[in-house]
Amino acid sequence: MHDQNAEGNDFFKCDFCRKSWAEDRPMVEGHKGSLICAPCLSLAFDEVWNRPGGQQVPFTCTMCLEHRDDPFWVSPAFPDAGICKRCIKQSVVMLERDPDAGWKRPAPA
Ligand SMILES: [Zn+2]
Ligand SMILES: [Zn+2]
Repeated sequence: MHDQNAEGNDFFKCDFCRKSWAEDRPMVEGHKGSLICAPCLSLAFDEVWNRPGGQQVPFTCTMCLEHRDDPFWVSPAFPDAGICKRCIKQSVVMLERDPDAGWKRPAPA
C-alpha cells in the first residue's frame, strides 16, 4: 500500500505485514499500489506452493483484485489481506529477476 501520510521509505508498506520498504525488504507491486515484501512472499510461497496449503476459500486477492477460487495465502497479522496462488508465483518470478533484491524462493522442506 502507499501510505499517504508518510514519506520516503515509509510511503511504501507491505499490505500483508504493514512494514515499510527497506534495502533488505524488497517488494513486488500489484494492482492499485498493493505491495508484498520478500519475507511475506517467502511465507506465502512456502505455504501455498511447497506444501501445498493455503485457504481454499473464495477471496478477493489483494494483489490482482480478482475474486478467485485458487488457494490463497492470508496474512496471519492482517486477515483481510490475501494473495492468490497465481500472484504468488508471478511475484516470485519478478523478485527473483530483480538483481538488487538478491532473493530466492524458499526451497521445499
Ligand atoms: Zn510483508
Ligand atoms: Zn491474485
